[in-house]
Amino acid sequence: MYLFLIVLMNKNSFDVIIIGGGLAGLLCSIDLHKRGFSVLVIEKKSYPLHKVCGEYISNEVLPYLKRLGYNPSDSGAKEISRFMISSSNGASETCEMEMGGFSLSRYKLDHDLFELASSLGVELISNTAVTEISFNDDESFEVKTVEKTYGSNVVIGAYGKRSNIDKGLGRDFFSKRTSYLGVKHHFKGEHEDDLVCLHNFDGGYCGVSKVENGLINISYLITNDVLKRYKNINELEQVHLSKNPFLKNIFENSTPVFEKPLVISQINFGIKQTVEKHVLMIGDAAGMIHPLCGNGMAMAIHSTKLCSNQVSEFLSQKISRKEMESRYRNVWDKAFKRRLKLGNLMQPLFGKGWTSNTALRVIKILPSILPKVVSLSHGAPIQ
Ligand SMILES: Cc1cc2nc3c(=O)[nH]c(=O)nc-3n(C[C@H](O)[C@H](O)[C@H](O)COP(=O)(O)OP(=O)(O)OC[C@H]3O[C@@H](n4cnc5c(N)ncnc54)[C@H](O)[C@@H]3O)c2cc1C
Repeated sequence: MYLFLIVLMNKNSFDVIIIGGGLAGLLCSIDLHKRGFSVLVIEKKSYPLHKVCGEYISNEVLPYLKRLGYNPSDSGAKEISRFMISSSNGASETCEMEMGGFSLSRYKLDHDLFELASSLGVELISNTAVTEISFNDDESFEVKTVEKTYGSNVVIGAYGKRSNIDKGLGRDFFSKRTSYLGVKHHFKGEHEDDLVCLHNFDGGYCGVSKVENGLINISYLITNDVLKRYKNINELEQVHLSKNPFLKNIFENSTPVFEKPLVISQINFGIKQTVEKHVLMIGDAAGMIHPLCGNGMAMAIHSTKLCSNQVSEFLSQKISRKEMESRYRNVWDKAFKRRLKLGNLMQPLFGKGWTSNTALRVIKILPSILPKVVSLSHGAPIQ
């Protein structure tokens, strides 16, 4: 028997506490709130904020987003129906996308979801980091911030790819050094509205698409080893990335909007546990796919639905905590293992100059494989 009564008697207590108010955390809060549960979201930063992200989202998430009350078109998202790939030497191929997607800045998307969650009555605390989580014998959680301690029956980790929380939970991947970093700019310039591009260069690749306000998002993943060869990001882009003529064209003919690009390091694509010390992980906290496969956000959104389903069953006392955890592990693996495998298989093809040149030579001979590979990186619509 779970001590729901204790929770109801304590005003700092909730059915669910979600750590991290990014895309996954905010949508999960909306889903669970709509199912009638009390939810608190604690977010380290303040809204609105820019994030390193390619900002292309697969259309598979549209039915679920709309069901939760959010339609990206209302925020001016650009519809994307064509995909272009180029190798580091500038060979390129373009195809129509079967499912397609849309492009919307994280600045706008996360802020919209924050406003939607607030308007529905979700409790949200921003500008506050969670410092510690503990699970007690009475089957409840304590979640600490610097100022306060909160209680809940369920804790959901939606804090992204890497956080101090991972260290506290003793997660294996945390101590492993990684070789990738991510960089993002917004530019004023020319780019077709319906086109998303993946431009390769030696040591990484770069996504390009236009977002809602007409700016071009360029976002790339690069290895530390390559970055170290250059004095700074500007030199890296002017000398190294610009060996790809498509990127050279952007850097020469577009105007950067940010004073400095956004940079994140320690990007880890290793295997993570879906449930860690009874905390259910969603979004990047559960596992991160190579951005090359383009759909980390769709995975993050899908995982919120899978998690909300199991949490709802548990809080309605239809299943035990043990069942909730094992079911969530199973549905997560079933939904994403194949996609993660595809990402791991494709990554070596596009991380190096010669491999991307070879892959493009093959695509040029057999152009029909390109839309098939793009389709494999998109999932079925999430209702
Ligand atoms: C270079 C690059 C390009 C990408 N391009 C694409 C793309 O084009 N399309 C796509 O679908 N995906 C892309 N992705 C992946 C995508 O960005 C992620 O999958 C997505 O952001 C995951 O969302 P999330 O909600 O799990 O995490 P986030 O959006 O990272 O949210 C986590 C939140 O938790 C907060 N937080 C962290 N620690 C704490 C704490 N202790 N207490 C409270 N809050 C905390 C953070 O401030 C943050 O707001 C890309 C990733 C990279 C690196």
